[in-house]
Amino acid sequence: MMSVRLFRLNAWDSPWLNVKFLLGGGIVLLILLIGLLGPLFWDTEMAYTGSAPLNLPPMWSEGGSFDHPLGTESNGRDMLAQLIVGTPSSLKIGFLAAIIGMLIGLVFGSVAGYMGGWWDHIIRTISDSAMTIPSLVVLIVIASYVQMTDTTTMALILALFAWPGPTRMIRSQILTLRERGYVRMANLSGASAGEIMFVEMAPNMLPWLAASLTGGISAAILAATGLEALGLGPTRVPSLGLIINQATTNAALVRGMIWWWLPPILILMVIFIGFFLMTIGLDEIANPRLRQFKASRHERGSKKTGSQPVSAPVPSADGEALPLDVHNLHVYYFTPRGEIIATNGVTFGVRKGEILGLVGESGCGKTTVAMAILQVVQSPGRIVQGEIKINGRDLIGLTEKALRNLRWRELALIPQGAMNALNPVTRIREQMGDAILAHESRGRIELEERILKLLSDVGLPDRVISMYPHELSGGMKQRVCIAMAIALNPDVIIADEPTSALDVVVQRVVAQTLLEVKDRLGVSMVMIGHDMGLLAQVVDRMAIMYAGNLVEVAPVAAAYEKPLHPYTQLLIESIPSIKARKPLNVTEGLTHDLRNPPPGCIFQYRCKFVEPRCRDQRPPLVEIEQDHFVACWLY
Ligand code: SF4
Repeated sequence: MMSVRLFRLNAWDSPWLNVKFLLGGGIVLLILLIGLLGPLFWDTEMAYTGSAPLNLPPMWSEGGSFDHPLGTESNGRDMLAQLIVGTPSSLKIGFLAAIIGMLIGLVFGSVAGYMGGWWDHIIRTISDSAMTIPSLVVLIVIASYVQMTDTTTMALILALFAWPGPTRMIRSQILTLRERGYVRMANLSGASAGEIMFVEMAPNMLPWLAASLTGGISAAILAATGLEALGLGPTRVPSLGLIINQATTNAALVRGMIWWWLPPILILMVIFIGFFLMTIGLDEIANPRLRQFKASRHERGSKKTGSQPVSAPVPSADGEALPLDVHNLHVYYFTPRGEIIATNGVTFGVRKGEILGLVGESGCGKTTVAMAILQVVQSPGRIVQGEIKINGRDLIGLTEKALRNLRWRELALIPQGAMNALNPVTRIREQMGDAILAHESRGRIELEERILKLLSDVGLPDRVISMYPHELSGGMKQRVCIAMAIALNPDVIIADEPTSALDVVVQRVVAQTLLEVKDRLGVSMVMIGHDMGLLAQVVDRMAIMYAGNLVEVAPVAAAYEKPLHPYTQLLIESIPSIKARKPLNVTEGLTHDLRNPPPGCIFQYRCKFVEPRCRDQRPPLVEIEQDHFVACWLY
């Protein structure tokens, strides 16, 4: 009976518990609280009436007084009282202008993005035109004519220039979200426009909106302070900009009255730092890839799960370095909810001129292995342990320059989606030529001949050289990618599901092309896939992965005719057969939570042969017959 561990959710898992966001929010909140609660503890009337002695320095300077801790200015007003009154006034302008701008942007951006057509055209034209206007200059002109009697009037005028940015951002976000599968599904299932907008799309946009709002508040405070410092803001209520203006007009700088002009600038800096931290924190919340998580105990050397004991299914009997030698590879994804163990001590080697098929269900870690070999594991993933050797040279720790030199020459990739791998606006000649010229200098004629030869090697006619990717079929594009991968005669090619997006006929053509390339060039390949039937016709050996672990490595005939591991047996049984009219065998159950692998056998929750020792002892990957390795206590 299958047992699945559920993900544990608690308040500490919330992405909103982002350190930068909380720190920034704390700074802004503290400033706000000082402004709001200050009048309870200090006589803020002194900010308006010039009743204090003139030009008193702060209390820690000679001549200073405890009655006016931050000193007084030339009109006899208390500096502390002015800052307590002026800070919330500046913040109020920023908040009001940004919120109004965001609301306008939300309406316009939503209509443009969701309705599209003429609505989009008109709104986009107006907002794009508005963004070209030099807002500060226009604001200065407006402020010169309009009586800025209070902060609300000023905020309304600033809001006139605060909406185009949010409009563009919201429009582009909606256009992106509209194409997402779950929004299409909601559309097809009959959800109303309002439901799609507020239930499906709005929650995903929340962090983006919040980040845009905090950025907008900073921009509005900056613009307002600039106008006030020029003497174009309200003069009845003190604000940080007005204090700077009065300090400037009274030559505070020249007179050495640092306590007059410096405090408002420092407060503004703290406010901007607070909003900046909030904005980047919100960016990280909206985009988890930007987050960095602290090193785990795994990275520091201790092991939570224990890596897979390995008897190295690496056929290097003659002692020569293998073209590809992966040893004890651990790749983890560091998420707020814990470390996802994508590969747990994976070890395998590939002989010269051999194709190794790496198979397993979605999420088993096979693509992560490929990305690790290519040294392009995406954040928040990291290689935390292991060796990846190409012809005996370990790639881990190489500089980016060394890796650039090595890629394509010694190690190449045939990507999963040829449609996305080729630049749609560049002809095949330039795309292939650029890849070659990045590593070798060749004359134009020689380069052209080389490209034509490569195209011919993968069975494509000469005319393809002058074509754009959109003029080619899926199979032709995939063969162009193969031609690019072999352009510099690499020793190892990683083919990441090279046939997954193709129909069965074209799959066979591409597979045949790969076989011909291997035979002609003697290149070693790792072919990733989950189509067991197709892989059987192409690969020499099979490596079967389950939940980040290799469970069986065997020559292709043995893997199909005499699979040993219960998981491999399930995979083989699930291959549909035309001859045997039997119902499809479905592998029941789900993989365990990859953050908490079971202590014993990795497959124990789904294995019908499970026995007591499988629960707490991990079976090593051992050689049962020549070249046939399995990790299971049954053998
Ligand atoms: S070790 Fe036990 S649980 Fe794991 S595959 Fe073998 S029999 Fe099944």
